[in-house]
Amino acid sequence: MVSQPQAGADVVRLAWPDVGDEELAEIAGVLDSGQLTMGPKVEELEELLAAAAGAEHAVAVSSGTAALHVAVLALGIGPGDEVLVPAYTFPATANVVALAGGTPVLADVDPVTMNLDPEDTARRVTPRTKAILAVHLFGRPARLEELPELPLLEDAAGALGASHRGRPCGALGLVGCFSFHPRKIVTTGEGGAVTTNDAELAERMRSLRHHGWSPSARYDDMPEGGYNYRLSDVLCALGIPQLRRLDELLAARERVAAGYAERLAGLDVVLPEADPGDRHGLQAYVIQLDRRDEVMESLRAQGIQCQIGTYALHRLGAYRDQGPFPGADAAFERALALPLHSRLTDAELDRVAEALDKVVSHH
Ligand SMILES: *Cc1c(COP(=O)(O)O)cnc(C)c1O
Repeated sequence: MVSQPQAGADVVRLAWPDVGDEELAEIAGVLDSGQLTMGPKVEELEELLAAAAGAEHAVAVSSGTAALHVAVLALGIGPGDEVLVPAYTFPATANVVALAGGTPVLADVDPVTMNLDPEDTARRVTPRTKAILAVHLFGRPARLEELPELPLLEDAAGALGASHRGRPCGALGLVGCFSFHPRKIVTTGEGGAVTTNDAELAERMRSLRHHGWSPSARYDDMPEGGYNYRLSDVLCALGIPQLRRLDELLAARERVAAGYAERLAGLDVVLPEADPGDRHGLQAYVIQLDRRDEVMESLRAQGIQCQIGTYALHRLGAYRDQGPFPGADAAFERALALPLHSRLTDAELDRVAEALDKVVSHH
């Protein structure tokens, strides 16, 4: 396998965070203030995120994985509890259930949408099923209304700004989980957040983030054990200007996606789409095609960074032997993430399209 070409003058980058002077100024402000954590920037970021996700409460944490972890813990998931998760997703989605002592039960995905297959999900419900942890994979809103009626958590790590049937992803279930990793639309380097309309859940997640501390406990008490999953003011400052221009960031990605759609129309590839009326979050631009590995090698050899979509959990050491998942297999074998970021030029889009044109058949 040809390894990923290193970012440089001639290389088309897979991702490139949209950060600059505004972010530097915000960070400088935090450094000047002397309050590097647990200060006002945390709340400012939380307010902006809650507004963007259409939720009443947002709690900033140190990663998307921490967001998923506190969400699962706040729902009381533990030993004996099963949580349905897609078989094709970033492994953290399932890992957090296991870390809480529960059992992640894999359900197959639709090979085209790459989100949970509602029928397969329904078949895997048992009396022990406590919740569904649905993913809006790569930013494509999942059809949550088709899933069995169970407490619903959203892994919206890549779906900030996306919406389903007119409502923002992250506010469609009990808790929405976001990531601010550099390959997501808004980044703090590492970071994440949870959103919810339930004040009690929000309070529990705030407590888990901060060693189990509670505002209603005595000043010298910590009523429960918890984590340090806080996000520092320095990192919140990095995210704030990006959240303010979220619409602009989304529009820039939509421009790139439209550029690809136009250029790749004649090729035998499945292009990423959202359902009619939905807005795709475009965390990644993931196409599906035959001979994916060969195409990936060819693009990399031509100086174009590209990557597999994500992981088929039943093929990982941690989740082996849970039966066949043909939808997840198809997604895993066929998905290819193309360069997607706001600085991608038309000339670079041409280069990617020409490179694909050489190795992919036409219809
Ligand atoms: C990125 C991502 C995560 C993990 O987020 P981190 O911030 O890297 O911990 C979890 N689930 C999905 C679907 C993701 O895309």
